[in-house]
Amino acid sequence: DVQCLHAPFIQEMCEITHHMWMLGWDELNGGNISYRLDEEMVARYMNITGPHRTLKLSFPVRALAGQYFIVTGSGKYFRNVVKDPEATLGVLRVTADGENIEILWGLRGGAKPTSELASHFMSHAERQQADPEHRIVLHTHATHVIAMTFTHELNELKFTRTLWQMCTECLVVFPDGIGVVPWMVPGSSDIGRATAEKMKDYRAVIWPQHGIFVTGTTMDATFGLVETIEKAAKIYNVIGGRAVKQTITDRELLDLAAAFHVEPRAGVLD
Ligand code: 13P
Ligand code: ZN
Repeated sequence: DVQCLHAPFIQEMCEITHHMWMLGWDELNGGNISYRLDEEMVARYMNITGPHRTLKLSFPVRALAGQYFIVTGSGKYFRNVVKDPEATLGVLRVTADGENIEILWGLRGGAKPTSELASHFMSHAERQQADPEHRIVLHTHATHVIAMTFTHELNELKFTRTLWQMCTECLVVFPDGIGVVPWMVPGSSDIGRATAEKMKDYRAVIWPQHGIFVTGTTMDATFGLVETIEKAAKIYNVIGGRAVKQTITDRELLDLAAAFHVEPRAGVLD
């Protein structure tokens, strides 16, 4: 109903999915987002008690017991979220045993949460350990990041260094670097576990020939991270292997880190 649609978290999801679709990163049903919400915020806009549709998780997440999330639906198009949030988004709560989810709002007509829920939930569990302020996991098919996974070595330290060299801001925005998992079948608990394992140390993890997972405390921070990574990947692709006459040296990257009080991930720079 209309009251629900005024919820600021639904507005944020509508805005960001539309923006990402406009960027061409989320064709068809590509991409998915999950965003942890506070109970009192959810209760202000929708009924959190009373019988709700329950779905069993194939990967129990005890660490997220009782938590609330807004998520994108499986098979739903980012292009359509702003036109029909109630069909394309859902608000859910993880049950006290971490085995099930209850759908409190949305996912109209029996729709399911994103098929990448395992990667989202396992990543939330890891990022919450790393940062109590953590709230968002966002997966997208960022064009230049995908392209770069064809031509660049998939060694995550080398991948990180190349991205840092592409724009001066990169090291300051992601001094923790970028994780990379091998190519895997999407939508599985296996890729969820592999992604979450990387999320112990990284806020961003690349899925070769598929896309990227990024995490953050707010929509601005999370989206800002992925747009910065995508920009650096775009510059790498625009250079396209042509002879580089100058780059940012490791010495200069270290000076930059010192000036901006960030700690570059160990092992990336010489
Ligand atoms: P969903 O539509 O199930 O969210 O899947 C989209 C996707 O990008 C899978 O990796
Ligand atoms: Zn995907």
